[in-house]
Amino acid sequence: MRTSWRIFTIFGIDIRIDSSWLFIFVLVTWGLAQHYFPSQYPHWSPLYSLLIGLIASLLLFSSVLAHELTHSLVARSRGEKVRSITLFFFGGVAEITEEPKTPAKEFIIAVAGPLSSFLIAALFFGVWRGMQGVSEPIVALARYLALINGILAVFNMIPGFPLDGGRVLKAIVWRITGDVKRATRVASVSGQVIAFLLIVFGISQILRGYFVDGLWTILIGWFIHSAAVRGYRHVLIRESLKDVRAQDLMDSAFESIDGALTVQELIEDYILKKKARSFLITERGALAGIVCLEDVKAVSADKRAATTVREIMTPRDALEVVSPQTDGNKILAKLSNGKVHQVPVIEGGKVKGLVCRADILDYLHLRSNVGA
Ligand SMILES: [Zn+2]
Repeated sequence: MRTSWRIFTIFGIDIRIDSSWLFIFVLVTWGLAQHYFPSQYPHWSPLYSLLIGLIASLLLFSSVLAHELTHSLVARSRGEKVRSITLFFFGGVAEITEEPKTPAKEFIIAVAGPLSSFLIAALFFGVWRGMQGVSEPIVALARYLALINGILAVFNMIPGFPLDGGRVLKAIVWRITGDVKRATRVASVSGQVIAFLLIVFGISQILRGYFVDGLWTILIGWFIHSAAVRGYRHVLIRESLKDVRAQDLMDSAFESIDGALTVQELIEDYILKKKARSFLITERGALAGIVCLEDVKAVSADKRAATTVREIMTPRDALEVVSPQTDGNKILAKLSNGKVHQVPVIEGGKVKGLVCRADILDYLHLRSNVGA
């Protein structure tokens, strides 16, 4: 579980920083203050180098934020919802709720980021040239930021998922073949090849004595590799769940039970005897909450006789309800926010069934087993 903190909200988008970011921030500042600036401006005092290094670091991360914010705002202007932006490790991620639905949207959202980095680089380039002989620290900062934003723009256009260039590649293949799964696979494989090359390059750097640089390259390669694999799996799941409805996933053979029942009784009388796995808890005839097999499993064996189902149920107020027509991805999104393990399927004010996380996993498992 990663830790991240919300630092502020802009245009209604939460800006968060991941714990790893603090480490990178210190590392970047230290590198700038100890090596980069002293090598160019040897007459600066160590404290002055540190101060300029700190400002450069903050501007670097603001540049990354601007890049992600551009993705987000373009996504939003195309009707996509953006929840948050998290700055972590050596970059950032904009959390766009759904994958873009057309190749054109995917393309425009993807190129917007590198384009903004390129514009920021051009801006700092202008400042760098314009301030020559006027202010040494501003020239130093502008030069560094022009360079780093230029690298950000170019690096992100490398055509392998999860980099922006990989999304561009996906959009192009998607447009040509009309097959989003195939396009994702191409972008993912390309990302894995690039990651592999980066790791090989990192190892060669280490062998030539550039230990820190090599380690960085390997780290970036490893990160790209895992994200490329994860991204593809993610799309496969989305594709599989696109056409399935709540009514196909739900367990309609749920049992109505009383909240005062103990977990032990529930296991013996309902789960083992009746093979039921989803339960509606009623208090004086009204729906009070629901319990899934997963909730029962979470109670340790020695506590089952002393725990009532009322204590482990997801109460009615905390429930997210769906209709029988809600699609699998929307249900998964509701289940993924972490608070609920199951959603009741309601039609005409009545509970028709329950969908648990396990039902979705079963469905995906079944689908891959029969090769669908
Ligand atoms: Zn980007």
